[in-house]
Amino acid sequence: MSAPTKSKDTLAAFGGEPAVPRPLRTLVWPVITDEDRAAVLQTLDGGPLVSNVDGESPVTVLEKRWAERCATAYCVGTSNGTTALTVALAAMGIGPGDEVIVPALSFIASGLAPVHQMAIPVFADVDPVTFTLDPAAVAAAITPATTAILPVHLHGHPADMDPLLDIAHRHGLAVLEDAAQAHGATYHGRPVGGIGAMGAFSLQVTKNLPTCGEGGLLTTDDADLAGKARMAREFGEVIEPGRDRDYISYRLGWNHKLSSVQAAFTTSQLDRFDGYQAARERNVTTFLDRLSELPGLTVPTVADGSTHAWHILRFRFDPDAAGLPGLTPEAFRRALHRLLRAEGVPVSRYQLMPLPDQRVFTDRVGFGKGYPWAAGTPMPDADIPVTRRILDDSLTIQKRHLNPAAGSALARYADGFEKVWAHLDVVARLAAA
Ligand SMILES: *Cc1c(COP(=O)(O)O)cnc(C)c1O
Repeated sequence: MSAPTKSKDTLAAFGGEPAVPRPLRTLVWPVITDEDRAAVLQTLDGGPLVSNVDGESPVTVLEKRWAERCATAYCVGTSNGTTALTVALAAMGIGPGDEVIVPALSFIASGLAPVHQMAIPVFADVDPVTFTLDPAAVAAAITPATTAILPVHLHGHPADMDPLLDIAHRHGLAVLEDAAQAHGATYHGRPVGGIGAMGAFSLQVTKNLPTCGEGGLLTTDDADLAGKARMAREFGEVIEPGRDRDYISYRLGWNHKLSSVQAAFTTSQLDRFDGYQAARERNVTTFLDRLSELPGLTVPTVADGSTHAWHILRFRFDPDAAGLPGLTPEAFRRALHRLLRAEGVPVSRYQLMPLPDQRVFTDRVGFGKGYPWAAGTPMPDADIPVTRRILDDSLTIQKRHLNPAAGSALARYADGFEKVWAHLDVVARLAAA
């Protein structure tokens, strides 16, 4: 056997040539064009730099465009996705002692937002295929203190909104969609963010619709909620076109405004958003088609009637299906993590633990004196076996595939997976060690 052949066939962890050349391991995101630069410079030179001027501003332009894109009547810009969630909860009147049902698998902000409102997050398990709130787990978590459900369209896949809305309707609960990862995804033909009473989006740089820093957007069809959200965003004042600012705070408010420069950048990105998403759809489905051939590897799928924003790609691993009985899923995942990384496939874990295991919740680190938990008597968190299993047996690809030109890199990532799968005996030995 000649040396070059050997080096290509040998796993990179044992001295072989990595499947993914170095430049393809990190791909630029966000993609920043001259149009984006011009939009920012135009705002710097022409203003308005404040976001609460009377009349049109970069913020109102973006709000109008995003409301149209989500088919909602209103959109309210905020300083980030987390404040979009808290401003929405404030507008919906969620407060001390209220229980808000949140998926156990999400980014920390989904669990912190209720606490910011002095409400109590109650964590429910997720579906093993879509990774979004399991309606049966939600139904089981409801108590007389429950006032809201906070479904997260995790990784870009819409939560199963019809049964969730049904439960909410029966119990008189508010529904706030956390759409921070799911810009443009649809559920039964409707864009996410326009399905519950309100939807919260993040414009943080790594999200599918980015700004050049931090930003958020809130969508709703309800004029009253939109008005209250605007008040919560700006000191509790009424800021309306054509109305003189009276400097009176009518409600509890914060300063959670979106800045003009951030809005101008995102509006420019929005011009290319649908084109980028179409490219992503092609690149990702080609990639997943190849990976779906590998035994014991479950690729993300799309539920009937939904479209996926493909913000994060999560792969689950089953040692039995891979023909490696006797390995635990966790040991299999650890070995794959090490070998795939060595090949240059940028897999990583997304969330190291379920939200309820985070110290802020186990230690009840809130506002002090036990609050917000002291404001209610929440039942103990339910079992979340599905969330735990998912975190044990899966890895993700983040950010790389967002670039519309990611196709060739994803092909090399698939090479890396296939190479590791050609050495499952090595994986088994490593996992058992
Ligand atoms: C990013 C994210 C948020 C928070 O958005 P920020 O803009 O970072 O504050 C909330 N929920 C989910 C699911 C997210 O991924």
